[in-house]
Amino acid sequence: MVKLNHIRPKNLDDFIGQEKVKGTLRIFLEASRLRNEPLDHMLLCGPPGVGKTSLAFVVASELNRRIKITSGPAIERQGDLIAMLTTLEEGEVLFIDEIHRLSRSIEEVLYSAMEDFAVDVVLGSGPGARSVRLNLARFTLIGATTREGLISAPLRSRFGIVVKLGYYTLDELKEIVKRSASIFGVDVADDAAYEIARRSRGTPRIAISLLRRVRDFGEVKGIRVIDLDLTMKAFEELGIDEFGLDNVCRRLLMVIVENYSGGPVGLDTLSISLGEDRRTIEEVYEPFLIREGFIKRTSKGRMATVKAFEYIRGLSK
Ligand code: ADP
Repeated sequence: MVKLNHIRPKNLDDFIGQEKVKGTLRIFLEASRLRNEPLDHMLLCGPPGVGKTSLAFVVASELNRRIKITSGPAIERQGDLIAMLTTLEEGEVLFIDEIHRLSRSIEEVLYSAMEDFAVDVVLGSGPGARSVRLNLARFTLIGATTREGLISAPLRSRFGIVVKLGYYTLDELKEIVKRSASIFGVDVADDAAYEIARRSRGTPRIAISLLRRVRDFGEVKGIRVIDLDLTMKAFEELGIDEFGLDNVCRRLLMVIVENYSGGPVGLDTLSISLGEDRRTIEEVYEPFLIREGFIKRTSKGRMATVKAFEYIRGLSK
C-alpha cells in the first residue's frame, strides 16, 4: 500500500512549481553549506495544502539533517518546547506547524532560542527560585502558518527567511497529478490529469486527494486507466463542479446569496449555518472563494459578488 508520506517530494527538484521560492532557497542552502553554518530560521506562509510541510522536509533533506515535527496547538507548556529544543543537535531542523497558535509565554521561549541559541529555565519556586541558562545546539527553526497576519512582530523579526507559498498554476497541478499517479502506480491520461488539476482550487493537497478519489471510483468499476470519461463521471458523483467547488463551498455561497440576500454575513452565522468550524471556513474555504471573486470580505462580514449570484442562479436551472 502507498503511504501518504511517499507522496511528499524528497528534494527541491521533486518539489513542483514555486520556482522563485526554490531559486531563493537554493542560494540560502548553498550559502549555509559553504559557510558550514546552520540555515537561517525560516517562516513559511500560505494557505493549507500548498506544500509548507513538504518544503520543510525538503529543506531538511537538502541539508542532510534530521527534522523534528510539532505544531503550535500541541505545545501546551514551556517545558514541552524546552524539552524539544534541548534534544536538537547541531544543524537539525525543528518544524512548528501553525506557529501562529503558540501562546505568548511559549513564544517567549523561542525568542532567546532563535536569537542566542539558549533558553532560561527557572529551577525551584518562591523566593529560592533561580534561573539557569541552558545553551542549545545551533538549530534551524522552520515555522509554518496559514495566518501570516497573526504572527507577532517580535517572533517574525527573528526569522531570517520569510517564504510565501501561493496557489499553483494549472500546469503545475497537472504535473503534481501525474507525479502522484506514477507513485500510486496508476495511469492517468493527459486530459484527465488536466481536468483534475482544474478542479483542485490551486492546491496540491486537493489535486492529490481528487486523484485518489477518481482512482477509487475507477477501481470499483474495474477500470485501470484514468481517462477523461471516468474522471468526469467521478466528479459528477462526488459533486465537484468545473470550478472545483464542492458541497460545502456551494452551501456557503447559497447561505450568503439566498438566506441573507448577498450579505454581509458574519463568520459566526456562517459557521452555525454550515455546521463547520470558524477556522476551517476562514482558512480552508474562503481564501479560494475570495481569490476567484465569488465573495468579498468586508468589515461587516462576507458579501456575495455578482459572480456568486450568477453561479447560484445557474444551479437552479
Ligand atoms: P501544507 O503543509 O502547506 O498544508 P503539505 O506540505 O502537507 O501542505 O502538502 C499537501 C500535499 O501536497 C502533500 O501530499 C504534498 O506531497 C503535496 N505537495 C504540496 N506541494 C507540492 C509540490 N510543490 N510538489 C509536489 N507535491 C506537493
